[in-house]
Amino acid sequence: MTGDAMTDCLFCKIIAGDLPCHRVYLDENVLAFLDIGPVSSGHVLVIPNHHYETLSDLPDELSAAIGSVLPRLCRAVIESVGAKGLNVLQNNGACAGQVVNHAHFHLIPRIEDDGLGFRWRAGKYDNGEAERLCGKISNALANQ
Ligand code: AMP
Ligand code: ZN
Repeated sequence: MTGDAMTDCLFCKIIAGDLPCHRVYLDENVLAFLDIGPVSSGHVLVIPNHHYETLSDLPDELSAAIGSVLPRLCRAVIESVGAKGLNVLQNNGACAGQVVNHAHFHLIPRIEDDGLGFRWRAGKYDNGEAERLCGKISNALANQ
């Protein structure tokens, strides 16, 4: 989390042109390129052009810049590979599966019965827990 280029960061090296990538989009804030190990054909990574480790670290303006290009990128990826759907995946922290510590969004094109996806174990709140959590999150937001 800094905003400055990090010499040991793979994605900062790609931004600097020191490592190659298959670029699909570039503007002053955002770069998008093919993932080197595609989960499905057309798997694209969307990254801020400055080094921040996680989504929580991104300044609002940079986050907004990524958000404004995401729908266009999704449409282009879906159209190009003939996908029927698409997952946007965003890992933050090693425990959440983040391997490259430069914030990024995965765009993963999907078709019926492609065998991808992960187990979604829906839970349930105990009595009063949802209200307590709501209050805590609202307060945390108000204090930012
Ligand atoms: P994550 O697990 O969310 O940190 O995902 C990191 C992603 O970066 C993985 O899907 C890798 O395949 C991808 N990746 C790593 N190195 C490169 C690279 N040089 N060019 C393109 N994608 C890469
Ligand atoms: Zn970086």
